[in-house]
Amino acid sequence: MQRCNNPVVQKRAGTIRPHRIQSEGGMYRVVLLAWFFVQTDARPSQSLELRIEAPPELAAVRKRLESIDPQRFDDIAQLVGLTDVGPAIRVVLAPESSDLARGVSAWIAGFTVGESVVLFPARSPTYPNNSLEDVMRHEVAHALIWRVSGGRPIPRWFNEGVAMAAERNRGFDDRTQLFYQLVTGSPTSLDQLDRLFEGGQSDQVRAYALAGALVRDVFDLHGPAGCAQILTRVGRGAPFDAAFADVAGITPAAAESEFWQRQRIWTNWLPIITSATILWMAVTLLAILAIYRRRRRNLEIEKQWGKDENGGDDDL
Ligand SMILES: [Zn+2]
Repeated sequence: MQRCNNPVVQKRAGTIRPHRIQSEGGMYRVVLLAWFFVQTDARPSQSLELRIEAPPELAAVRKRLESIDPQRFDDIAQLVGLTDVGPAIRVVLAPESSDLARGVSAWIAGFTVGESVVLFPARSPTYPNNSLEDVMRHEVAHALIWRVSGGRPIPRWFNEGVAMAAERNRGFDDRTQLFYQLVTGSPTSLDQLDRLFEGGQSDQVRAYALAGALVRDVFDLHGPAGCAQILTRVGRGAPFDAAFADVAGITPAAAESEFWQRQRIWTNWLPIITSATILWMAVTLLAILAIYRRRRRNLEIEKQWGKDENGGDDDL
């Protein structure tokens, strides 16, 4: 069973981030990247169909989700390497009164079992999700990962990281959440990361932030088509670790190690801390503080004036 306890999804999804060629890769990586670029042209021959089921009270939500252009899911099929998207994916909209809703924590907005997706529209998405459509994109990605890999084992960190990449482009929330997780926690191994997904809400938020960053790191180095190649190989029977090593050129453990080496706070994050957005936030906070102090000072002065006036009356 493949299950996503997603403390749910967010923003406008879309295309995957472009490659960022790194200088230390050498000719071998340049050749690999060129090969990956060629592979990214493997678009699905037709768009994915969703079969959305809902009780009468959720008919309006169903209608809204059904109105989404099916081509908006083409990038997910392409990301996971499905050229033939196959039969429709079943999406069940479950009300809060349902057994499905009562069976999972209140902060879980959706999950996937095999190729079946369940969404809870009444639950406001929290990190890593922003909207119901994003939750659906995330869960559909899990269903398609299951389909392309034939249900064979995929580590949770990779499964979730790919679903997050399918859901949206990396945003400010992801960066700040990752930064928070880096400064408040120590390096986490892949096994530990998978166990965090089984923990409470804060453990899962950490797991999503790290898994999303780790998989994006793999994309940055090896291109988004690497993901499709890994999943396709698993679908043909290769163990995940072997498929990953064949495609990425390094083992998952080595990729994890490289990821943590790149997360050096002062070299990697200082440019973001000093970005225009953060500086404007700091300036705004300073302005608010100045206003607050000025008002407090004015109140003290008025209080003193009141005392002085009362003192004058006493003299009369
Ligand atoms: Zn998930």
